[in-house]
Amino acid sequence: MRRIDFIVIHCTATPQDTRPEAIQHYWKEYLKWKNPGYHYLIEASGDVRQLATEERICNGVAGHNANSIHVSYIGGVDADNKPLDNRTPAQRQSMRVLIIKLKKQYPQAQIQGHRDFPFVKKACPCFDARQEFNDFTAIVNSI
Ligand SMILES: [Zn+2]
Repeated sequence: MRRIDFIVIHCTATPQDTRPEAIQHYWKEYLKWKNPGYHYLIEASGDVRQLATEERICNGVAGHNANSIHVSYIGGVDADNKPLDNRTPAQRQSMRVLIIKLKKQYPQAQIQGHRDFPFVKKACPCFDARQEFNDFTAIVNSI
């Protein structure tokens, strides 16, 4: 099994109604990626799409992919393409459930945002993931 040290939170930096297929198409046809960008994609409806098994390496954060699981919500920009945490209540809920599940699976993994890695200039995921999921170890241990 792959060693997982990071559960990384992202946003797609696209409109909230962007279809997962369009994002996958972009990775494959424009960026020419062999692997998806994220393992899990959370739609505005709260639906969670798994795009890759957790054993596969995804292209979430350059230099940190071998030991990471990547989770992204669709959205993260306003109408002018400026960073905005516009997660729907359903997305927040699904993200929480998914992160709890992953943290149980990989108790040693740190939960952090894309922007929390060194030298990252992006706003992704447009909120403080470390702070939001800080209480998780306690929650996970009590379940
Ligand atoms: Zn990102």
